[in-house]
Amino acid sequence: MTATLERTKLLIGGHTVDATSGATFESRNPYTGQSWAVLPDGGVADVDAAVAAARDAFESEWGSTTGQRRAALMRRLADLIDENAERLARLEVNDSGKLYREMQGQLGALGGWYHYYAGLADKLEGRQIPAPNPDYLVYTRKEPIGVVAAITPWNSPLLLLSWKLAPALAAGCTVVVKPSEHAPVSTPTFAELFEQAGFPPGVVNVVTSQSREVGAYLAGHPGVDKVAFTGSTSTGLAVARAAAENLTAVSLELGGKSPQVVFDDADLAAAANGVVAGVFAAAGQTCMAGSRLIVHESVHDELVERVADRAASIRLGDPRDPATEMGPIANQPQYEKVLGYLRRATADGTLVATGGAADEELGGLFVRPTVLTGVTPEDTVVREEVFGPVLAVYSFTDEEEAVRLANDTPYGLAGAVWTKDVHRAHRVAARLRAGTVWINAYRAVAPGVPFGGYGQSGLGRENGWEAIEQYIENKAVWVELSGNTRDPFTLG
Ligand code: NAD
Repeated sequence: MTATLERTKLLIGGHTVDATSGATFESRNPYTGQSWAVLPDGGVADVDAAVAAARDAFESEWGSTTGQRRAALMRRLADLIDENAERLARLEVNDSGKLYREMQGQLGALGGWYHYYAGLADKLEGRQIPAPNPDYLVYTRKEPIGVVAAITPWNSPLLLLSWKLAPALAAGCTVVVKPSEHAPVSTPTFAELFEQAGFPPGVVNVVTSQSREVGAYLAGHPGVDKVAFTGSTSTGLAVARAAAENLTAVSLELGGKSPQVVFDDADLAAAANGVVAGVFAAAGQTCMAGSRLIVHESVHDELVERVADRAASIRLGDPRDPATEMGPIANQPQYEKVLGYLRRATADGTLVATGGAADEELGGLFVRPTVLTGVTPEDTVVREEVFGPVLAVYSFTDEEEAVRLANDTPYGLAGAVWTKDVHRAHRVAARLRAGTVWINAYRAVAPGVPFGGYGQSGLGRENGWEAIEQYIENKAVWVELSGNTRDPFTLG
């Protein structure tokens, strides 16, 4: 059995190596329940070595590489990603139980992130600023922030890594990546492509580990200039605290409790489809899951019926099967967490329109797609992120109440407005306190469109121009033009 396990290494300074301690850990396939890969269990010595390698690369060849050259390397990498998309998609399916059909699409699109940021790499222009005194020329330079720590979660590991890596590389940074202990395999395999693309050693380094302490150590490492993190809000707070000890820059993509607001004039078939896509795709294990359905009271029953009918007919099963619509929950702790929320909701008196429990027929880590009605805005299932296939439904009577309910959350990652009234659509979109609002749509992202959260959903933005700015320091340069000696006791 052990002989068939997939094996990976750490990547440090261009070398593929075992952990200094020699320790390893195994990754378990959530569908089969079997271990399928063995990885180095990196420790603090490996993090130190990876940060040192990233620093060396930053201060040597990579630091003086032009934007044009970085762009060319990133485009080559994008082509290699296309060639390897199928293989990488299969690794992610084995690791996280996500559908092959979703991961195939995701990996097929991944190269687009590197193409987009390759397009920006040679356009990082400073500006010349009119000086307050004619004796000065003043201009700015956009310089890479330095060594970046990229810490990623188990859902969509390579996509969420690329949201960090592509702008960081375009800006001229070097990176140490620490993937999640629950889905670690695709990242070291992906990292092999960097050497093939021609990136200098040390520009991208990978440390896998089963210890969450290793992520904490990396976040607080004094050799790191910026931490880019995606994960839960509680871990994000710990990351922000660790980074603050060194005043290290930080961007955080955290959890969500995103609302789908459906007005009485909405196309209910389209809205029902969007609600299903928002919370049952990827078994609800997406940060942007539309897990609160806030619906006008006059169409509440009809919409609930449509959503519950579709939810009940979702095909659960083998994530590799193209006919499957929902796979298992990605790991045992997450499965227990989702079931805990369902038990609590039922105890709170919530009504179950469909689902509400584990799928006993399939067993394993499968949870039935669940629609809960009769919830109140105070219920735990309305306030906390479940990160599973669980929709909480409640109603409103007018626009004012809809906006108030939608914004009544500590989170603010995303949301949707469903209406045919163009005035109301934009009015409500403007009032939702969320980083992304879709109108009559859900779950669309693209390299050029900023993504991130208000409130407890995070700090900063990924994707778009906004993301590259987070890997850049803006330096002001003042040039004295007269050549005269100045009064040392006056400013300017
Ligand atoms: P998590 O917070 O448990 O772990 C994320 C990463 O942080 C892992 O690599 C983990 O090993 C590491 N880590 C753990 N403790 C750490 C510490 N003290 N310091 C530094 N790193 C540490 O999150 P998860 O369970 O892997 O992912 C699910 C969460 O991620 C959900 O809350 C989800 O909403 C969120 N998420 C957000 C986005 C977004 O873009 N906003 C995208 C996907 C997932």
